[in-house]
Amino acid sequence: MAALGIPRNTIEIIKKYNIKFQKRFGQNFLIDTHVLEKIISASGVTKNDFVLEIGPGIGTMTQYLCESAREVLAVEIDSSLIPVLSDTLSAYDNVTIVNKDILKLDINRIVKEYNQNTPIKVVANLPYYITTPIIMGLFESHVPLESVTVMVQKEVAQRMQAVPGTKDYGALSLAIQYYANAVIAANVPANCFIPRPSVGSAVIKLTCHSTPPVKVDDEKFMFSVIHASFNQRRKTLQNALSNDDRLGISKKEAADAIKQMGLAENTRGEVLYLKDFAKLSNILLNLRKQR
Ligand code: SAM
Repeated sequence: MAALGIPRNTIEIIKKYNIKFQKRFGQNFLIDTHVLEKIISASGVTKNDFVLEIGPGIGTMTQYLCESAREVLAVEIDSSLIPVLSDTLSAYDNVTIVNKDILKLDINRIVKEYNQNTPIKVVANLPYYITTPIIMGLFESHVPLESVTVMVQKEVAQRMQAVPGTKDYGALSLAIQYYANAVIAANVPANCFIPRPSVGSAVIKLTCHSTPPVKVDDEKFMFSVIHASFNQRRKTLQNALSNDDRLGISKKEAADAIKQMGLAENTRGEVLYLKDFAKLSNILLNLRKQR
C-alpha cells in the first residue's frame, strides 16, 4: 500500500472509498510527510514501544507508527473507516484496529493486556472537539504513560505549556503540568490537512512524570482551588476562594492562608505556580480541619 502522507495517495483512497469527511468526528486527515515525520520523531517511538493511537482515520500516521513501533493499537470511532484501515494497513502485522469511542474504552485493561502494565506511548492527531476529555481522561484514570505526543488546536497547546503571568495560563496549564512536562514540538498550518481545519494546529509532547512534582494532601481539593482561582480571574485570590461555595472557605480563612503563604493581600491566582497551589490547598485543608 502506497504511503498516505503523500496527498495524491490520500486522494486516491478518498475516491476509492467515497469517503465523506465527518465534521462531528473532527475528521481532518494529515497530508504532509514532513509533519508526519516530525510527530514520529518528537514521540521518540522505537521498536521497543507499544503505541496507542487515537483516531487513525484512514491510517496515515498509523503506517508511520507501524514502521517505527513494536506494536500499535489504533482506536477509531467511525465504523465506515474500518474497511479502509484494513486496506491501507494490510502490509503490517503489528497493528490492531479497535472500532470504539476512546472515551468509553478501558485503556488500563489494554495496557495490561498488550504491555504488561508498563508505561505506553500515546501518539495521535486528536479530534479537537474532545482534546481535553481525552488527555485528562488518560491522566486521571492513571493509565501507565510514558508520553503523549498529540496534534491539538494551537491555542490549546499554548495553554497547556503556559507559565504564570501570561494570558494563556490557567486551570488547563496546571492540570497538564501536574501530570507531565509539556513542550510544543511544531506548529502546523491548516494546509497540511484535508479538509483544512478552520484553526491553526500544533504538536505538543507531554512527557509524563513518574511521580507528581508536588506533594498534595488532597489532589481533588487542589484542583477545586485552582478552578475557583481561575473562574474569577479578575478577582483577588482571597475573593475568588471565599466566593466559591464548593470550597467552603470563609473570607477569614482565605486571608489567613494567603498570609501564611507570605503573599500580598491583593494577589491574584494567575501569578501562582503549581507548587504554590499545592501549598495553598494544603494550608486551606488544615485551616478547615482546625474549625
Ligand atoms: N490520524 C488521522 C490523520 O492524522 O490523518 C486522522 C485524524 S482526525 C483529526 C481525528 C480522527 O479521530 C478521525 O478519524 C475521527 O473519526 C476519530 N475520532 C473522533 N472521535 C473519536 C472518538 N471518540 N474515539 C475514537 N476516535 C475518534
